[in-house]
Amino acid sequence: MTTHYDDSNIFAKILRGELPCHRVYEDDQTLAFMDIMPVAVGHVLVIPKYPAVELSDLPLQYAQAVIATAQKVMKAQRQVLQTQGITQVQINHPEAGQSVLHYHMHLVPAHFSDIAKHEAKHESVSANPDELAQLAAQLSEAIN
Ligand code: 5GP
Repeated sequence: MTTHYDDSNIFAKILRGELPCHRVYEDDQTLAFMDIMPVAVGHVLVIPKYPAVELSDLPLQYAQAVIATAQKVMKAQRQVLQTQGITQVQINHPEAGQSVLHYHMHLVPAHFSDIAKHEAKHESVSANPDELAQLAAQLSEAIN
């Protein structure tokens, strides 16, 4: 059984073009963009163009596409940010802390223990939009 999907969530609006994002990469099945409240510089989200709330709702075809995009993004993060450590986080259900109910994979250029600390304290801090735009452009260029 799949989870009920409410298409008024913020990532559905981004996918429909109703809200802006700092796009890093896009293909017919996925979109990668900068997290607006990054827990580390270069924090990217990868989402499927499919109405899945969480991992258990994601068809394998889209899971595969998300992984393929994540691999491209990781490679670009390593190149642009000159770091090897990329932590992949993906939260299922509000009970585990999921806040946006459209499947998304976090790719964060940071040590896992720093993310755990940071997320609890600073999740409401928005990044400078110019810096996000610049990072998105650099990552995008590194992928292409
Ligand atoms: P979750 O806690 O659901 O795993 O993560 C949701 C993520 O979405 C958070 O890291 C948060 O910063 C990010 N986020 C929330 N609203 C927006 C938005 O409007 N645009 C972007 N780019 N990211 C958002």
